Parts: sequence; C-alpha cells; structure tokens
Amino acid sequence: MLGRQLSPKHGVLALRAACPVDGCGLVEKHGLRNAYAESAIPFQCPEHGKHAIRVSEPAEVARLEANAPTCNLIRGMAHLLDTKAHNIRVTGGDYAGTFQEMFLYRPLAAWSRETGLAAGRTTPHILYAPVIVDWSGAKLSKNLYVREGAYDVMKPLGTDGLCSFERLRAHFGDDGAEGLRRIWRGRELVEGP
Ligand SMILES: [Zn+2]
Repeated sequence: MLGRQLSPKHGVLALRAACPVDGCGLVEKHGLRNAYAESAIPFQCPEHGKHAIRVSEPAEVARLEANAPTCNLIRGMAHLLDTKAHNIRVTGGDYAGTFQEMFLYRPLAAWSRETGLAAGRTTPHILYAPVIVDWSGAKLSKNLYVREGAYDVMKPLGTDGLCSFERLRAHFGDDGAEGLRRIWRGRELVEGP
C-alpha cells in the first residue's frame, strides 16, 4: 500500500541495493523485482544473480538506497524517533506543499497511528530554499525531465547560463564566479561584463 502511495507509477517501494560484486554495482532503480521477506530483502542482478540485504545487519541496511519520496519518509520517521532533538530540515522549495502532504505527512500519520510510534511528537520543521524555475514553473535544474531542446530559446534571450553551470561559465569566459555573482545579486545575465 505504501508502494502505491510513494510510487504511483510502479506501485512498489523504490528501494534498491547495488550488486555487491566488485566492478558491477548495478541497481534496479524502481525496485520492481524486490521481494520482501521477514528477515531479508532479496535483489537480483542481471549479471550476477541474487543478492540480499539482511534487515538485522545495520551495515547491510546502510547499503540500501531509496527514491526521493521514500528517502524523505524514512528521514521523517528517523527524526520523529529521535527523542533527544527536534530536527529541522532544509530542502529545495520544489518539495514544498502537496509533495510533503502526500508523501510525508499522510504516511507519517498512518505509520504513527498503526504502530503507536512517535505518538504526540511534532513532525520535523522543514525550511525551503528558493528554487529557480522556468516559465512553466518547473525546476530549471531538472532539465533532465524536459524534452531535448526545450531550453534552446534561452540562448537568444541571453539566459542560457541559468541552464547549467557549464553554460554559465562559458557565457562569461571565467571560472563561473561572475555569473554566480550576478545571480546572487539578482542582476540580468544578459548585461555586458
Ligand atoms: Zn552484478
């Protein structure tokens, strides 16, 4: 059920562990083939076959990786169980709002209700850093998710340097410091140096 909530597209928890064979390290990103047993989580490498993480072994559990929503939730649980401190988290503004409502607060409330853990504790406070977005409101640094050439128009507009640090550096022909200075001051990138 948690898998459906956190990864609606695939319906399973996106937990993974890299193949432990030296020089391999392949992971199955979405956790589609994971089978959850009582004491271990078995994984499958297409080259080297099965390997597993034993849940009783902290060193093995530390090798587990999770996708952003799952990682966010695990961190939330860990912070709630940490009774010695009230944790404050800083993250990008693109995680604010509905993302946290659906992927953090809702499952945290259900988890606490069903297990009795973290009862009466306040969920960690989260501070959000501003995000540079494109005209559609999408995070500019995630240009992996837009179609090839989607930001080509930024070149004639002179804002191409916001697409990547590499382009920012190329625009000013220095180590990138001038471009970063202008972004920090909120000044136009198109102005002459
Ligand atoms: Zn392998």
